Amino acid sequence: MTINITVWNEFRHEQTNEAVIAVYPAGIHQTIKAFLKKDEQFNVRTATLDQPDHGLTPDVLDSTDVLIWWGHAAHAEVRDDIVEKVCQRIRGGMGLIVLHSGHFSKVFKRITGANCGLKWRDVGEKCRVWNVKPNHPIAAGVDECIELEHEEMYGEPFGIPDPDELVFMSWFKGGEVFRSGCVFNVERGKVFYFQPGHETYPIYHHEGIQKIISNACKYVAPTAEIIDTNVGNWIKVPLEEV
Ligand code: ZN
Repeated sequence: MTINITVWNEFRHEQTNEAVIAVYPAGIHQTIKAFLKKDEQFNVRTATLDQPDHGLTPDVLDSTDVLIWWGHAAHAEVRDDIVEKVCQRIRGGMGLIVLHSGHFSKVFKRITGANCGLKWRDVGEKCRVWNVKPNHPIAAGVDECIELEHEEMYGEPFGIPDPDELVFMSWFKGGEVFRSGCVFNVERGKVFYFQPGHETYPIYHHEGIQKIISNACKYVAPTAEIIDTNVGNWIKVPLEEV
């Protein structure tokens, strides 16, 4: 079955910061789209902040099974009405994958109901992403540990609700650890948060990272019809029919 994926990117650093342009000349969203497109099961398109409705028009959203979200500097510019539409579709069954600094996005905060704060330090230190649940579908075919030579440190405590499934934990050379691959069930939808992906390092060019994101798209994809749970769970059932 085809999975319709929309890769959403803030797409600001890649237009202004030379260090980021060097790593992602066409934007992080295009790099993610390019590796996902190798899987014939995926139908992939992109959306960015500065497009009308941030690229998330009703037509796009209504035909998205899995939404991938990368944002950093402009979280506040994302319109609240779009955030609510995205969250309502997740509650109805759409999958969401939140990457790296998307932890502070309005969408992730709203869907988790938490502040999602963390510790951070960007000195380009070594990061080991440990596969702590090798029997999980998101970890299928993934090594015991992915070593990233340079990554921004994200550290605990991470201000999220306890995840329903913890698939990856990261260690940083400075000594901190971080719950870096977390699954949350929200009504009919699934949300996966994945830490790697600071914009100045070639994280999304790493085959192991690509494998995890690809696996996650299949895992969070809806397995039933996506419905509007604002009305779908409000059904009067007459007693005589019980
Ligand atoms: Zn970062």
